Amino acid sequence: MINGKKTLALLVLILLAACQTQKKKEPVPIPSPNIVLFFVDDMGWQDTSVPFWDKKTPFNQRYITPNMERLAKDGMKFTQAYSTAVCSPTRVSLMTGMNAARHRVTNWTLKKDVLKPMEVNHKTLDFPMWNVNGMSPVEGDDRAVHATPLPQVLKDAGYFTIHSGKAHFGAIGTPGEAPLKLGFDINIAGHAAGAPESYYGLQNFGNGKEGKEIWAVPGLEQYHGKDIYLTEAITQEALKSLDEAVAKEQPFFLYMAHYAVHTPIMGDDRFLQKYLEKELDITEAKYASMIEGMDKSLGDIMDYLEEKNLDENTIILFMSDNGGLSAVARGGERHTHNKPLASGKGSAYEGGIREPMLVKWPGAVEPNSTNEGYLIIEDFYPTILEMAGVQNPKLAQVVDGKSFVPLLTEKETNTSDRPLFWHYPNEWGPDGPGVGASSTVRKGDWKLIYFHEDQRIELFNLKTDIGETKNVSSEHPEIVGELSKILSDHLRNVNAQMPSYKNTGEAVPYPDQISL
Ligand code: CA
Repeated sequence: MINGKKTLALLVLILLAACQTQKKKEPVPIPSPNIVLFFVDDMGWQDTSVPFWDKKTPFNQRYITPNMERLAKDGMKFTQAYSTAVCSPTRVSLMTGMNAARHRVTNWTLKKDVLKPMEVNHKTLDFPMWNVNGMSPVEGDDRAVHATPLPQVLKDAGYFTIHSGKAHFGAIGTPGEAPLKLGFDINIAGHAAGAPESYYGLQNFGNGKEGKEIWAVPGLEQYHGKDIYLTEAITQEALKSLDEAVAKEQPFFLYMAHYAVHTPIMGDDRFLQKYLEKELDITEAKYASMIEGMDKSLGDIMDYLEEKNLDENTIILFMSDNGGLSAVARGGERHTHNKPLASGKGSAYEGGIREPMLVKWPGAVEPNSTNEGYLIIEDFYPTILEMAGVQNPKLAQVVDGKSFVPLLTEKETNTSDRPLFWHYPNEWGPDGPGVGASSTVRKGDWKLIYFHEDQRIELFNLKTDIGETKNVSSEHPEIVGELSKILSDHLRNVNAQMPSYKNTGEAVPYPDQISL
């Protein structure tokens, strides 16, 4: 017995020692997950066969997106995910984690140091000099927000970082225009402009067209003169870069940022015919073909990950940067392309800001699940860093976003106590419902919009009125008071810029300063 006990004790000691030696020799690393952020431009909440509302709509019947369906089956669908109403504010929030009111890149960027003609020529408002130069990785650039970009943090943590597609982070001639200066190892086709001159390889993606140089897509010379659509070209190039990441045995961050489905609406001939047969008008048929081409790209990436046995250790996030375009350039009736949501791109209404969002995270996220919590684009920054296991990074900026990992793992399900903020002291150009300078807050089911030009306040209950058809501000003065205060406190806290009135020179007051 005693001998037996001694032997056992000895065995335990040997095992412990062995474990310790092994622990010292080679700590078992937790593999960093690969992360694919699949980011579509100007895609609306209903531009898919995946239903993001509680019922299928005619748009869900119209559009064909089998790979989004596949991703939804593998992951979690978010029905109330938000961006901002136009491109650059969303992209800068994504890459900095900052709310737009704080980073001040509140409108879309292109030319250095100047306000846009439609801002300068506005009838009643003078607009502030917002950060027209976009974001900057270095301190001291004028009219740019200095921040530590998301890909830089990931690169510093050992990731191979790939930018493919549309950048649109900074004005021409500034550091922010170049993805390689923002922490990306690879840049495929990204620069200052937010749209391509052409989607067609046969047209060299707009290169060589006189007077259109700033819109010509850079860096895809090998496809010039070939019959290939831009969506396909940047996907093929992205997959080549993934090969490189795999060869290097580095975890990768792929920012697959499509130019599609932004204007110019140019048909993707691989898919166009079936939409013409559905008797859509030609513009809407072309638009639908662009959606399906984007969806094919998603499928190609998912196929690649499966073929290389990377799918189990790769997170895929799907998101769009603003609501579907509806005020101009589309077929059919204006302001109806995001129904049941009101209006579209450029608007403070849901059609301008609510996005189709999906997340696949094997082992962490319940497949085929739906989350009705709400979140906003700046939340992606801390979320992706948490997914990558990056802790307490040294950052140049204050991060407003909140990680939605607890929503993904369903540790947290209720978001209703958290206010979300939008701030647009700018002019977009086209007209439409909810379009124009405004500040907005959502908390729980309530959403308050404050329009700067006429100091109009609108209040909606999104639970009972998703289409924002009934302004109930006069019926709920107490909620108007509460939300005005929350919104104004936020604007004061971040020192938000406001327009001023041309006739008086006075700044537009914060919403809790006006008399109702
Ligand atoms: Ca956009």
